[in-house]
Order: sequence, then C-alpha cells, then structure tokens
Amino acid sequence: MNYEQLFDAFDREHLWHPYTSVTNPLPTYKVKRVDGCVITLADDTQLIDGMSSWWCAVHGYNHPFLNEAVSRQLKQMAHVMFGGLTHEPAIALGKRLLSLAPPSMQKVFYADSGSVAVEVALKMAVQYHYGKGNSKRTNFVTIRSGYHGDTWNAMSVCDPVTGMHGLFGPALPIRYFAPAPVSRFGGEWIDEDIRSLREIIENHYDELAGLILEPVVQGAGGMRFYHPHYLVEAAKLCRDYGILLIFDEIATGFGRTGKLFAWEYAGVEPDIMCVGKALTGGYMTFSAVMTTEKVGQVISDAFPYAFMHGPTFMGNPLACAVACASIDLLLSYGWKEKVLRIEEQLRRELMPARNLPQVADVRVLGAIGVIEMKRPVNMAQIQRRFVEEGVWVRPFGKLVYIMPPFIISEKELTFLTKALLKVVSEMNENAENDD
Ligand SMILES: *Cc1c(COP(=O)(O)O)cnc(C)c1O
Repeated sequence: MNYEQLFDAFDREHLWHPYTSVTNPLPTYKVKRVDGCVITLADDTQLIDGMSSWWCAVHGYNHPFLNEAVSRQLKQMAHVMFGGLTHEPAIALGKRLLSLAPPSMQKVFYADSGSVAVEVALKMAVQYHYGKGNSKRTNFVTIRSGYHGDTWNAMSVCDPVTGMHGLFGPALPIRYFAPAPVSRFGGEWIDEDIRSLREIIENHYDELAGLILEPVVQGAGGMRFYHPHYLVEAAKLCRDYGILLIFDEIATGFGRTGKLFAWEYAGVEPDIMCVGKALTGGYMTFSAVMTTEKVGQVISDAFPYAFMHGPTFMGNPLACAVACASIDLLLSYGWKEKVLRIEEQLRRELMPARNLPQVADVRVLGAIGVIEMKRPVNMAQIQRRFVEEGVWVRPFGKLVYIMPPFIISEKELTFLTKALLKVVSEMNENAENDD
C-alpha cells in the first residue's frame, strides 16, 4: 500500500468526516473509483465492498442503467422548484412508490435525506392532531436501540444510550422510550415484550402524536432483528389510543431484509412511512414520506390548510429519475432470489464465528450479516486490517457487520466473509491490548 497516495494531507487538515475528530481524525482512505462491488483506492488497492455505502448502493456502483438515467435527465432538467411546478420524474416516482408501499399509503412528500424525512413524518403527526383540534398531542414514543437520523428531532427519538442524548440531553425534547423488544426474529414471541409500551401509551396517550420505529430491523442503533408480532401489538395500541404509527423504513426499504419493505413481515400498515437510503440506488441523497388519505385530509382541512414544510430541493428531478431507474432495476432482476441467496450464504459462512470466544452473537437476516463482539472494537486498527485483507467493512462499537450490494457474486461474498472471520478471530489479543 502507498500511504502517500492513500491519506490526503488537505483532507486530514481541513475536511470533517462523520463521527470523528477534525484535529486528530481516524484515517480516511482516498477512493479513486467504484465499480460493481469493488472500491478502488488511490493507490490502486481494490476492496470488496461490504457496506453498500451505508445501505444505499444496492445495485453496486457505477451501474450503466443508473448512469444513463442520470445523464438522460441531466440533459433536460437538473432541477426546478416544486412549488407551483411539477415534472414527469416526480410523477413517475410517485406512481412507483405507491405501487410498492402498503395499500393505505396514498400521499407522497419528497424530502432531502433520511433525517429530514423523519422530521417531516414527526411534523405530519403533530399537524394531524392539531388538525383534529388537539394541540396537546405533540410528543412521541419509540423503542430503545433505534436510530432515526442526526437532525434535532430525529436525534431525540434515537436510542438514549447509543444515541447522542448524553451530549445533547438538555437541548433535546424528552421522548418516551419503551425497552427494545427482546423477542428475536425467528424466535418465540414473548407477551411480556409489549407491556412497557402499553403502559407508556395508557398513561400518556393524551400527549402522544405518534409512535415511531424501524420495523423488524433496528439499524445503526444496534443492528437488532426483533419479532414482527411486536408490530401487530404496537399497531393495536396505536389504533386504540388514536396515536399515529410511523414506520422508518429508511434502512430496511427496497429488499434489504428479504421483503421489499419490512412491514410485510407483520402485515401491519403504518399511518406514515419514511423511505430513503437505497431509494436512489446510492446515487444521491433523497427520501420520501408517504401517508394515508386520512392524514392528508385532516392536515389539509384545518388552518393553515397546508402541510408546513417545503425544502428548496423538494422533488429534485435528477434524484427522482435515478430513483425510478433504481426501482425498475430492482424489480427486473429478481432481487428476492439474490437477497435470499446472500442470506443463505451469510448464514453458512458467518455462523462459525459463533464459536469464537470474543464473539457474543452472530445474526443474519436478508442481506444483512452481523457479528456482535463482546467488547467494542478498536476502530483504527480493525479498519486497517480489513483494508489489508482487501475488503471494505466499517464496524461501530461492538458491531462488525456487512450488508453487501445485492449484485455481489458468490465468490466475492466468500472473500468478504473469510476476511471478516479472519480479522474478527484475531481480535481477542488486540482487545486485551486496548485495556
Ligand atoms: C440512515 C437512517 C436515517 C437517516 O438518514 P440520513 O439520510 O442519513 O439522514 C434515518 N432512519 C434510519 C432507520 C436510518 O438508517
């Protein structure tokens, strides 16, 4: 490896990277190009991608069909305001989204990113209750171990321990947190699991606008897979107490869990649903919030007769066009067979890690494979080891996980899982050294 080329001095000096120091940052590897499942670094080192760039690049990188959709759209219109104007890419995407979403979803709001979609969903819930003449229902309940984004209100419903409550605590609105479900996906349903949520709702429903959660798979808050029956029980409570049910499918959407959307595991339809991340196949930031006829109606029937949100880049045509192409591609190539094949291979190749003394748990669902360590990993060290082994894997805390592009070949995936097992099995000693 050529360290001169890999680590850029300007970048190190001036550019802030996610969740790291700007004065003493963890190393950031310079990328030259990306194709399919391969990330090529500045010194021509090639890495097999295990992250899909945080759940996004489901079709792999530099895909000719998606490139073509962007260039075609670029020649006509990169952007035009959405206030008072509309365009074909926005309409075409809306039709596709509603054909894939739960049938009750009828209204689509386009936003800029996942976090903004969550802000929009929370505002919708508050404005819905306001529209019904109830201005006291402004708070939210959620479950622990969740992740909903980094903006203010999204942050307030993230897990209070792994999230940023410690730091921003006094500045954040105080939400209600039920424990994360302990009934595992694929395991027994334990009735006790819903008790805390029921108690919170019974005691506080008159101040609650909505319940927000990630259905079945909790992503960045802990990579947990819980029993879909939790959603059935939660939906019942919401219905009984007039609380809106918000599904954050930003990470789970577009096939990642083995269903097109994770709500399908429970057959429970939300009142509001957020999608993002893989929506544009990893090409650009974009998200959508969908809701029911009823929520749209209530918000629009009361003063100010409009939903009070409107980002500058709302409905961006480039993003809509590439999102349409990404959805068409997904539906055209048998995504389900691909994801189920990845799931089966991940199970076979990752489960041996269960026997390692430093590993607490191994779990797989759809195209997501998680190795939970007993202790937090040393980021700089493990990152370097993965790069040396020719793979791109970015752990957090105790979680070493992969969610590869759906187009990954069997051989590439084996390369990835072998590297994962190798690096993880070395970690015992390393962890000792950290103490
Ligand atoms: C990533 C994520 C978000 C935030 O999306 P951004 O595009 O990073 O703002 C929200 N919810 C979930 C479940 C996510 O995984």
